Amino acid sequence: MSENAWVAETITPGIRVEYEATRIIARRRTQYQEMVALENPVFGRMMFLDEAVQVTSADEFMYHEMLAHVPLLTHGAAKQVMIVGGGDCGLAEEVLKHRGVVELTQVEIDPDVVEFAREHFSAMNARAFADSRFRIEYADAAKYVAQTEQRFDAVLVDSTDPIGPGKALFTEEFYRNVRARLKPGGVLVAQCGMPFQQRTHFAAAMHALSAVFPIVTCYLIAVPSYTSGHMALAWASESLTPAIPLEELKRRAADVGLETRYYTPQVHLAAFALPPYVTELLPEAARSARINEGVFR
Ligand code: SAM
Repeated sequence: MSENAWVAETITPGIRVEYEATRIIARRRTQYQEMVALENPVFGRMMFLDEAVQVTSADEFMYHEMLAHVPLLTHGAAKQVMIVGGGDCGLAEEVLKHRGVVELTQVEIDPDVVEFAREHFSAMNARAFADSRFRIEYADAAKYVAQTEQRFDAVLVDSTDPIGPGKALFTEEFYRNVRARLKPGGVLVAQCGMPFQQRTHFAAAMHALSAVFPIVTCYLIAVPSYTSGHMALAWASESLTPAIPLEELKRRAADVGLETRYYTPQVHLAAFALPPYVTELLPEAARSARINEGVFR
């Protein structure tokens, strides 16, 4: 090991993943969480909250592209979009690539994370801050969705894991309030952890969603800094399924003029192919609805 400091991710009992810090950029306690930012030889700039990796400059495109473009291109006409959490603001930049989006409201609990990301992760978020369609509300999103009268075509949950302030974003009550805020044809997409490493957390989130929405499934991405293979992004809606013909998806992506490094219409559809070890963690209703099979018909 080198002389440099090493910072550990410890969110899963039994696993400790360490990252070399060639430079510690910040280590501080915000009002809500413990924040560390560092430089790493492989991942570039990394941000941790409560000892969990949140974002890295090298692989953020994988996560943010798939969290934004899969729901927005499938919906096809989203005008009002909400991001829940998303403090690094890399997701906002992807959403704003869609010219049809009229208003993007991001509800983030921790102003310190946003200010810090604005200063140190500007390569992934400067364009969002320069865009007049983008507005940040500082609030607990669980309370915000219970109170707001706004309606959204898409709600994208870019949260921390279900510890600390993120816990409230994985409850049935939160999902129920989101459903009430969705316009007809609207969709909720939410990061739901790693089905292998965070099996219980993933299954609980999918069960809670199933208690609220008639259409519930997930799609998978692989992001190197989220260790242990697949990460699941939940898909939930009252009426919008993820089934869309490849040619239509290609047409919509071309209309938007997307330039991406992970997302393609083919990767989009393929992400809905679920291995049985994931399907078996879905609630019975989601399994028997065979929603993902519809994507490949
Ligand atoms: N991609 C990330 C990951 O590793 O899962 C998540 C990134 S983003 C930094 C997560 C954000 O969710 C943080 O900035 C955190 O402050 C915010 N957050 C956590 N709980 C929240 C809540 N109840 N309401 C609003 N924002 C919340």
